Amino acid sequence: MNKKTYIFKSEIKELLNIVINSLYSNKEIFLRELISNSSDAIDKLKFYYIKFKDKELYNLNENYFINIHIDKNNLIISDNGIGMNKKELINNLGKIAKSGTKEFLNKYINIKDNNINHNMIGQFGVGFYSSFMVSDKVFVHTKSINSKNGYLWVSDGHGKYEILKKKKKYNGTDVILNIKNSCNEFLDLLNIKKIIIKYSNYINVPINLKCFNKKENKYIYKKINISDALWIKNKKDISLKEYINFYNTLVNNLGNPLIWSHNKVEGKHEYIILIYIPSISPWNIWNRDEYKNGIKLYINRIFIMEGINKIVPFYLRFVQGIVDTSDLPLNISREILQNSNIINILCISITNKILNMLNKLSLNKDKYNIFWKEFGNIFKEGLAEDEINRYKISLLLRFCSTYYNSKDKYVSLEDYLNRMLPNQDKIFFIISDNYSSAFNSPHLEIYRKKNIEVLLMFNRIDEWMMSYLNDFKGIKFYSINKNDNIKVNNIITLNKSKILNNENNLNNFILKIKNLLSNKIKDVILTDKLDNFPVVVTTSVNEMSTQMSKLLSAVGKSIPKIKYLLEINPNHVLIKYISNIKDNSLLKKWIYYLYYQSLLIETNSLNNPSKFINLINNILSNLIIK
Ligand code: ADP
Repeated sequence: MNKKTYIFKSEIKELLNIVINSLYSNKEIFLRELISNSSDAIDKLKFYYIKFKDKELYNLNENYFINIHIDKNNLIISDNGIGMNKKELINNLGKIAKSGTKEFLNKYINIKDNNINHNMIGQFGVGFYSSFMVSDKVFVHTKSINSKNGYLWVSDGHGKYEILKKKKKYNGTDVILNIKNSCNEFLDLLNIKKIIIKYSNYINVPINLKCFNKKENKYIYKKINISDALWIKNKKDISLKEYINFYNTLVNNLGNPLIWSHNKVEGKHEYIILIYIPSISPWNIWNRDEYKNGIKLYINRIFIMEGINKIVPFYLRFVQGIVDTSDLPLNISREILQNSNIINILCISITNKILNMLNKLSLNKDKYNIFWKEFGNIFKEGLAEDEINRYKISLLLRFCSTYYNSKDKYVSLEDYLNRMLPNQDKIFFIISDNYSSAFNSPHLEIYRKKNIEVLLMFNRIDEWMMSYLNDFKGIKFYSINKNDNIKVNNIITLNKSKILNNENNLNNFILKIKNLLSNKIKDVILTDKLDNFPVVVTTSVNEMSTQMSKLLSAVGKSIPKIKYLLEINPNHVLIKYISNIKDNSLLKKWIYYLYYQSLLIETNSLNNPSKFINLINNILSNLIIK
């Protein structure tokens, strides 16, 4: 037999050592590597035909295939690509052609560190050699398109390989893997199918898997990949249905897509982006530590990984889709990828695409409402996370407002600006615990009376969000929960004369409140901003607000109790009545009653509600007895 034994170049020995001993964490990628080699070999053959032979043959796609079958303990990957002659076998499988790999090995050899760093492995393509992770022995039976002879390359990955002449009828390559006992999962048809679909679904060559067909009672090769990567096609050749079908292959139960965007970017960097906004939020999207974004990265149609940190900003993590680029090596590691410049470029591009897409979606109110209900609170995180796009984000924000009497109707900041009164110079908002308490807040009374719209905020994130939003188109935001609005806003002004008149009458009463509640409140003032309510409490602009204090205590921070400013409505019948009570002990009860009701309205809860109820019951009982 014409058999010759060769020794791997020393660098290959090192490489094999590293690959076999260190890449254990994700063994299944060997199949992706072999399939992509086969697909490359087929591309090379097409190119060969174009260049040297019959141009028409190039289009005969159906003639090309990658066949995979399992035979006892062998996994066999066959292609009818360009194949290799003897010289190519030696050059391609016996030494390293890639300079990057050499550099890597030099580094590795110099470090002489047996605890090879996994991050470094990603710097080179392990390619063909990854098959030794799962095989005791690898056979490569190949015939080049321009050679008469076929050859069999054999190695157990331990320093040597053999090449012998072996007849092969057609051009192409069969890679036969003697699967290790410890890697039996790669002899399982269903598992192989799963791996092919995961990594190689969109390779432009049919991948056929040999399986038993019960109907025909025989083994047949069945195509299992989609092969036709939708995103490669021209936009105008893709139907609506195809876009939606593709979305459904990407996601699980996320409703219909609300909108999508498909772009091919050419130039210094080339990539294709196809992204969708779902209509239902993934169930674990609020699990900040575990949730991975929905962007899958492909390199030349080969799936590389998903949920890569930084490929899309965290506040846009609900977007689903793919990015395909040819600017990265196949075997790049997650760590290197996350810090690579190309990820930055992709992130900027994807972010712009999403913001534009949302802008377009916002023209359809119904659809945008679905988006906002589902993802609005996540999207708001962008104000803090994405300073560069803060303005674009603020255009896309939606709020409940006093303009509507409904929790399900939203306004944009632009809507608000268009409705502002001529002399209004602020965007007013209120933050409360829920829609009803915001909508019915005593703070709103004077704004309603004066026909001034107020934005209603009641989500946990809102207080934090507003700390990043100073103004919109130059108009400042103003929280009406704060008492300073009396001074700073030019349309809500107090009717001083009315109040002054009252102040003399009420001076004594105010003094009594101050004395009684001195360790609970900051001060007491009169106000004419109330109508139906006798009292309200406020904080001042520079102080911590009620919602912020709640937010901080919810995350376990110990914060001092807020001392509120108690504002009194001198025109309210209760105030008129209480301020005239002479019995000191009864007056005290009434003052506590006023204080606790204002606290309840502001904070939505009391530390000791029974005490408050007892107090009311006591006052009422006394009145009845009288
Ligand atoms: P890479 O594919 O990244 O170049 P590999 O180690 O996977 O590195 O493969 C080395 C070389 O062997 C390939 O570049 C190709 O020239 C050759 N080769 C591998 N598999 C095949 C195949 N199925 N058909 C033809 N040539 C192949």
